[in-house]
Amino acid sequence: MIIRSADLEATAVHPHQWPKPRLPEFAFLGRSNVGKSTLLNRLLNRKQLARVSSQPGKTRQLNFYLVNQAFRFVDLPGYGYAAVSKQERDRFAAMIDRYLNDRDELCRIFHLVDIRHEPTKDDVAVHRALLELGVPVSVVATKADKIGRSHVPKHIKVIRDILRTPADIWPVSAEKREGLEELWRVIEGDLGA
Ligand code: GDP
Repeated sequence: MIIRSADLEATAVHPHQWPKPRLPEFAFLGRSNVGKSTLLNRLLNRKQLARVSSQPGKTRQLNFYLVNQAFRFVDLPGYGYAAVSKQERDRFAAMIDRYLNDRDELCRIFHLVDIRHEPTKDDVAVHRALLELGVPVSVVATKADKIGRSHVPKHIKVIRDILRTPADIWPVSAEKREGLEELWRVIEGDLGA
């Protein structure tokens, strides 16, 4: 994919703030610190479009990035960050649920998990809920450079077994720019490009 333009089009806490023109949307979701901002920046070839935070749990709204005037990436707040209050976490969860359930434009969800570790209880619960939405889901196993290449298949199998998922699982390293082409191919397939 050649990125001709990529801009933050809207940040939203409430549905009325979701952008209007109907375009296909790809949502990105994962635990705080999973590497979501870094991946979005790499995919879009921008240094700091999505903020890479040294303070996890900072994204508190939905960020809509308009790409090539043709589709959007939607950056959903990271979950599983213990240092925010339960009230705040419930608010994030409700905001994410509302978007995932109500957005007709949503054409795929990328669920990010860290390739190094077994998916957490939160990851499993979120994944079950995603599978029930009836929207295509792909798993992205981040930070693949942190394990040896030969270990990748074993880690993918653990992720598949623990998530109990039929979804495709893509190892990526945003750091080393590996696996990005494969994700673009999935997106291009959905766009019919
Ligand atoms: P977010 O909270 O999910 O948006 O995570 P960030 O993108 O802010 O990344 C969290 C931390 O993981 C940062 O210190 C990143 O530099 C690091 N990180 C992200 N992606 C990779 C990767 O592919 N490889 C390695 N080694 N580190 C990464």
